[in-house]
Amino acid sequence: MENFDWKNLPFGYIKTDYNIRCKYKDGKWGKLEVSSSEFIDIHIAATGLHYGQEAFEGLKAYMGKDGKVRLFRWEDNARRLISSADGVKMAAVPVELFKEALFKVIELNKKFIPPYESGASLYIRPLLYGSGPEVGVKPASEYTFLVFVTPVGPYFRGGVKPVNMLICRDVDRAAPMGTGIYKVGGNYAASMRAIIAAREGGYANTIFLDAKEKKYIDECGPANFFGIKDNTYVTPKSESILNSITNMSLIEIAKSLGMKTERRRIPVEELATFTEAGACGTAAVISPIAKIFDPGNNMVYDFCKSGSPGTLTMKLYDKLIAIQYGNEPDTFGWITILE
Ligand SMILES: *Cc1c(COP(=O)(O)O)cnc(C)c1O
Repeated sequence: MENFDWKNLPFGYIKTDYNIRCKYKDGKWGKLEVSSSEFIDIHIAATGLHYGQEAFEGLKAYMGKDGKVRLFRWEDNARRLISSADGVKMAAVPVELFKEALFKVIELNKKFIPPYESGASLYIRPLLYGSGPEVGVKPASEYTFLVFVTPVGPYFRGGVKPVNMLICRDVDRAAPMGTGIYKVGGNYAASMRAIIAAREGGYANTIFLDAKEKKYIDECGPANFFGIKDNTYVTPKSESILNSITNMSLIEIAKSLGMKTERRRIPVEELATFTEAGACGTAAVISPIAKIFDPGNNMVYDFCKSGSPGTLTMKLYDKLIAIQYGNEPDTFGWITILE
């Protein structure tokens, strides 16, 4: 185990020993290469740089109390990367190749997996981009797949804290038939203005509305939104949001806890009826939402009058974390133990 101040790890990039790379050329994927460099050599005309042919994934490896390393639903990440690759016309990374790279990069960097007590984890970032040169707008004929890892602290050090969100009415992240359903960098670039404006206003993040009618809740910054009322977990149905694996898992957990679940359009005014709300994704698992401000009508929706996260939100959160770290049995078939 590396000698880090594990308890105070930031949620940021820390250099590890190795990363894995693989190139697609002449219609096929080559062999995995192990690199100890943090840099890539990239063609000046690569489509990943010019035309946004790029997609990524994010998942975590967790060290359990029992000393075993667990991966959470990695196959869903592999499949989602295939979908994203197809979404911007890149060569897809087969599930087997994804698995090989993933397992190898974790094994090579195992001393960077934070110990159980730290509440930290090893964040894994697979990346795929067009590395072949083109000047006209068309898909590259060469692609690079790489996977790096970095140990990350818990998103909320010192416990989960509710955050405030700003509804965004002047920027769209993704259009209904655009690329919002893919995990591509372009969506992040499109959201940057809104996220910075929200941060400057003192909010943790921005809530995007559907781009067409500006009536329904869409994404919550780089995370999915959910609201809870009457023992029901409600999350948006939309053609422009990324299908969060955390969200899919929370839906299953909610059902197993006897809650009802709904995936449907959520009109902005409905926010007034939720007793709890949150944003979910791999990074923070759940960010409970304290308040949402809508500058369209100066409404403030308050989900957290007591100042602490809602009980159902915390129940879902605790259950998911317990499965990820192996403190509770995984009855869903989500965990892969790395031997
Ligand atoms: C990655 C991501 C999420 C969260 O997905 P998880 O699979 O739960 O990590 C949500 N929204 C967007 C836009 C994302 O890129």
